[in-house]
Amino acid sequence: MNAPVFKLFSNCVPVKGARRSLLCDLYTGRTKLIPNSLFDLLTDYKDRSPEDIKAAHNGRYDEEIDEYYTFLVEHGWGFMCDDPDAFPEISLEYRIPELITNAVIDTDAGSQHDYAALMDQLEELGCKHIQYRFYNPRPLTEIEHLCALTEGRRLQGIEIYVPYGPDYADEGVLRDLCDRYQRIICLVLTGAPEHRMIHTAEPLMTMGVLHYHPSIIDSDRCCGLVDRSLFTVSMTAFTEALHFNSCLNRKISVDTRGNIKNCPSLEKTYGNTADTALKDAMEAEGFQDVWAVTKDAVSVCKDCEFRYICTDCRAFTENADPLGKPLSCGYDPYTAAWSETRFPPFTMEV
Ligand code: SF4
Repeated sequence: MNAPVFKLFSNCVPVKGARRSLLCDLYTGRTKLIPNSLFDLLTDYKDRSPEDIKAAHNGRYDEEIDEYYTFLVEHGWGFMCDDPDAFPEISLEYRIPELITNAVIDTDAGSQHDYAALMDQLEELGCKHIQYRFYNPRPLTEIEHLCALTEGRRLQGIEIYVPYGPDYADEGVLRDLCDRYQRIICLVLTGAPEHRMIHTAEPLMTMGVLHYHPSIIDSDRCCGLVDRSLFTVSMTAFTEALHFNSCLNRKISVDTRGNIKNCPSLEKTYGNTADTALKDAMEAEGFQDVWAVTKDAVSVCKDCEFRYICTDCRAFTENADPLGKPLSCGYDPYTAAWSETRFPPFTMEV
């Protein structure tokens, strides 16, 4: 009989940072900050019995090792077992069939988008989520028309940002809109007189949020927020961040003038919707380069314990460096301290 060894549940993955580490439970979404010494115990001494590890340290850390394992077992991060090979590691590969998973379409008073044609193209690419950002007031009928275009499509959800105005004063009408079009993930009324969030669907469902927000979004400068409120702990988000960029991977954007980009806030364009198909743009040389920029390649972030649950921004970075830390992030992984989020003007508290 082998001596029992500690085994992390395969869905619980430790991530090491410069000063501390993070345990991520990719099934339940919970996290736990842990000392780097515990990370080392979980990785360098994996599949070795506590007695073996204690002996390797000449008994200097017996108490700490017992405390660590007791904590992990009591809080459901892992278990003691005789046969660690019977519990293989979970695959952390990221493979999906869609060419594009998400899109951003920006609109201002001078935009001339053919939304139906864009949706047709996005559907062909497998796109699941579209974010529409309106920078100037639009009648509610136009928003309803946009929602109606989603009917009968494979699209899973849409987010709409539109300036608050008289058309949006009747909450009942807006609730009815969200009820009728269940693909609405959120309808955000920017420049609203108050900050209020209403779940129009069942509480805790991710769809159906009516959000009144005082911040004004009137250009693609109002983007790039990276903050702990936006951390996502899930198998999909974690594995994507492990291998790809957590904001721009499989994203395509159309700016207010119809220019096709990775993100409306980035300069580089890959054609215009007037004469270029979205598929041709995404297959153009260079378009997919930024998809591969993981946080492991980004300065500062590469030493951060949150790097696989954090989103990213490549448009607004420190020193305008393509591999610089997102400008808005107020976290310093070398001191493990947060300061105020520094940018952008728009912040989505939830
Ligand atoms: S340092 Fe980088 S990975 Fe860490 S929280 Fe900030 S943006 Fe996210």
